[in-house]
Amino acid sequence: MKKFENFSEWFDEILFNAEILDNRYPVKGFAVYKAWGSRIIKRILEILERKLEETGHVPMLFPLVIPEDAFAKESEHIRGFSAEVFWVTHAGERELEKRLLLRPTSETAMYPMFALWIRSHADLPLKVYQSVAVYRYETKATRPLFRMREFLWNEAHTAHRNWEEAEKQVKEAIEIYDFVFKRLGLSYLILRRPDFDKFAGAVYSIAFDAWNPDGRINQIGTVHNLGENFAKVFDITYEDIDGTHRNVTQTCYGFGVSRVVAAIIAQHSDDHGLILPPEIAPIQVIIIPIVYKEVAQEVNIYAKEVYEVIRREGIRVHLDDSDDKTPGEKFYYWEMFGVPVRVEVGPRDQKERKVTITDRVHLRRRVVNIEDAVKAIRDLFDEVERELARRSKIILKELITDASDTSSLNEIIKGRKIARVCWCESIECAEKIREVSGGEIRGYRIDVEEVPERPCIICGQAAKKVVYVARAY
Ligand SMILES: [Zn+2]
Repeated sequence: MKKFENFSEWFDEILFNAEILDNRYPVKGFAVYKAWGSRIIKRILEILERKLEETGHVPMLFPLVIPEDAFAKESEHIRGFSAEVFWVTHAGERELEKRLLLRPTSETAMYPMFALWIRSHADLPLKVYQSVAVYRYETKATRPLFRMREFLWNEAHTAHRNWEEAEKQVKEAIEIYDFVFKRLGLSYLILRRPDFDKFAGAVYSIAFDAWNPDGRINQIGTVHNLGENFAKVFDITYEDIDGTHRNVTQTCYGFGVSRVVAAIIAQHSDDHGLILPPEIAPIQVIIIPIVYKEVAQEVNIYAKEVYEVIRREGIRVHLDDSDDKTPGEKFYYWEMFGVPVRVEVGPRDQKERKVTITDRVHLRRRVVNIEDAVKAIRDLFDEVERELARRSKIILKELITDASDTSSLNEIIKGRKIARVCWCESIECAEKIREVSGGEIRGYRIDVEEVPERPCIICGQAAKKVVYVARAY
């Protein structure tokens, strides 16, 4: 399969042909999201934002620019991000008195405002989200959707009375992301990052690492417990019930919209093109009339009737009755766009008041009566959704391989897989793991407890954690 042999080329072809993104914009790392891609993104964000609203998050929109002094307040944070920040230094010819930066993430834009808003325990918890673009001058090679200098995400930021409540919030955030990613049929590992690789300024970080056909991890979401680290430097305090003044405890989490789109393409699609879960497909059903000269009129009238029957039920349906393509060309065209269900309407279907329905995953045809069409289509939606999730899960399982020594570790990473290794938690051994394999420690699972069954793969001392090692975007 081309997808697994030449992922990069396969992926770029889908981006371009399915009109998701045009990477020819004349600034490196910036790209244009085209109509099909934008519609998919809109639907993904709808699922996420609905869930955020249901759990008490409120939408806000913070400015794109951050003043230098606010950004510089948290020392770990600035150390983590300063190398990749875009600066705004001039207005026309005049140099700005105070340099501004484009948000690489919004902690330092939001938290000075949190300090103004939060006064008492009654103001807590505060749970804010926004869906925006962020800017990071990536120095590694940029890749469309995976690693861009402008990328779309949704970020949420919360403030709480104490550590326990922040811990509960971390759990809720993980559940929200897990819910949305599962709805999209994605498979991933939920990993706690090793301390040396946590978010700059966090107490700890958890990441959703999705598999990719080239063996590289695609991090689609992260959740951080910030403790009081930012509250201390931004002076975000509140008066508790007993009258004492305390720092808030904070969490933040980011949902990488561009990367989620990349994961949907990478995990679900095939050599015919895109395959979309029905819930986010801009068009869920494509109707293609099979027209022959003598009966063209009857078939076209019947196709319109079928269209109305399906549209009435709230299904996003499109009738492709253009005459610039043959039916066969239309099949290929809409397969590339990943429309989950195709309905063919030919002279025989018309005569018998039937339709021929084909799903995008297996391309299996079946004939049903027009009265049963909507039910059959909805059943196929469920089937496509289940099948995408099932296939993706199997591949993730196949990609994970135990490594008991450095040569097998090296082989696994070179073979574009994810290695499962036992590790003593020392930085020296983590560095060695990278040296011998080219992969990095992504972290240990938090959804299941895994007890090391072997000593550390590098030093042979007692291992403390079972960790996953892979190359990453
Ligand atoms: Zn070790």
